[in-house]
Amino acid sequence: MGSFNQTVVLDAIRRSPNGLSRVELAEISGLSAQTLSNIARRLLEQELITESGKVQLGPGKPRTLLTLKPSARYAVGVHLDPAVITGVVLDLSGRVVSRATRRMPQPMDVDVVIRAMVEAVTDLLAEAGVEDGRVLGVGIASPGPIDSAHGIVVDPPHLLGWQRVPLREALGKATGFPVVLEKDVAATAVAEIWGSHSQSPENFIFVYLGTGIGMGLVSGGVVLRGVSRNAGEVGHIVVDPDGPDCFCGLRGCVAVTCMPRNLVAEAIGAGVLTQPVNLEDPLAVEAAFLELCAKVRQDDSGAGAIINRSAVRLAKAVSVLTNALDFDRVVFGGPYWPVLSEAYLALVPDALRKLTVAPHAAGPRVEGTTLGTDVGAIGAACTVFDGAISPDTRRLLLQH
Ligand SMILES: [Zn+2]
Repeated sequence: MGSFNQTVVLDAIRRSPNGLSRVELAEISGLSAQTLSNIARRLLEQELITESGKVQLGPGKPRTLLTLKPSARYAVGVHLDPAVITGVVLDLSGRVVSRATRRMPQPMDVDVVIRAMVEAVTDLLAEAGVEDGRVLGVGIASPGPIDSAHGIVVDPPHLLGWQRVPLREALGKATGFPVVLEKDVAATAVAEIWGSHSQSPENFIFVYLGTGIGMGLVSGGVVLRGVSRNAGEVGHIVVDPDGPDCFCGLRGCVAVTCMPRNLVAEAIGAGVLTQPVNLEDPLAVEAAFLELCAKVRQDDSGAGAIINRSAVRLAKAVSVLTNALDFDRVVFGGPYWPVLSEAYLALVPDALRKLTVAPHAAGPRVEGTTLGTDVGAIGAACTVFDGAISPDTRRLLLQH
């Protein structure tokens, strides 16, 4: 969608819902008035922006405001969670124009799941009334590890039977759109950046609570993806030295203490949940986990103790990163955030404050995402926009 300078200007306009004048844009971007004027003309010709009225700022003639034209382009996001497939269509402003969820097919046969994803993309675009020509592409948020260079989902622990699945190519062929594959925690971090209209760079950790737990890292407004784009694996941070043995050789890691699967197992062991649960079945684990969280809301003290302990344990893992990176903001989200938010918001801030090494008066700020449980899918779609219009990450490979 144009040169680097053009993406800088378009990104600045996107971040200002009320619009910006050419003079303000020149100040923000550091471009000359002439260059800015040329870029604005091109963006207007491409119908990516519109002139939306005039504003009087000080002496001189009124300035024309340039605003984004949200319906100019769209992106589709699909979030593949072991329990649920979530799809969204976003317009260029990042607004969700259609959304849908469907249960993950069981068993998770690769071809059946891909067919379900393709159907979701087609249905969502039809529902939103978006013609294919305005669709920039499809983003997929997948559990890791991923082989980003080849668009392959490698062998996520919770996607049973998935071994080196060339998901990017499969979805590209079936839909005809460019497809980008992103790790789920990176996608959620991208969504959070897009959701903010801040013009200043952001620093935060996104704690993703799904079938697995991961953390997305954002430094200076850029998602830290790592060398293989698999950053965010926090499963083997030790949060309870007396906890159960982990398959990695350590004890009491996040991977064996904080995941819904662990909490369900704890609840069964403590007699809080009385029905046996197949811990290898993500849907059965989810049902049992939601039952456990419901018991917390009904003031079941045994259930409350398990969830509260998980909050403090997770705070320890978060503190390792907030201390290492000297970050002062933590955002929680993901499929299970709604059922955990009350307990976690009550306990995590204080636990983090006690564990913070740097002398922040109040400790890191802890908040829930404002983007709801669709945050992974929204982030996947934003990744497509990033590839096209964001100056920081525009080198992302979009591939048919
Ligand atoms: Zn471990």
